[in-house]
Amino acid sequence: MFETSELSICVVCLHLFANGEYVDGTDIAETTAAAIEDLWGDQARHICAEGTELGFCSTACETCGNADHGDRYCAVALVPIAS
Ligand SMILES: [Zn+2]
Repeated sequence: MFETSELSICVVCLHLFANGEYVDGTDIAETTAAAIEDLWGDQARHICAEGTELGFCSTACETCGNADHGDRYCAVALVPIAS
């Protein structure tokens, strides 16, 4: 059994979950990876980037918590439910 949560995530998270990296010449990928670790810890490995564009949103990224407005993408978290 899994609990499925739909998430809206920022472009940096999308790349991190899909490719394991995000390269733009800054340390944003490291900062974001650390934020994901803080928010999700071990559960982060259950997150799958789905990639559907949600368009420009003013809500915070649900995986790294970045509150900057911007394009958001769909991801799903499949978290096993302990029985
Ligand atoms: Zn993010």
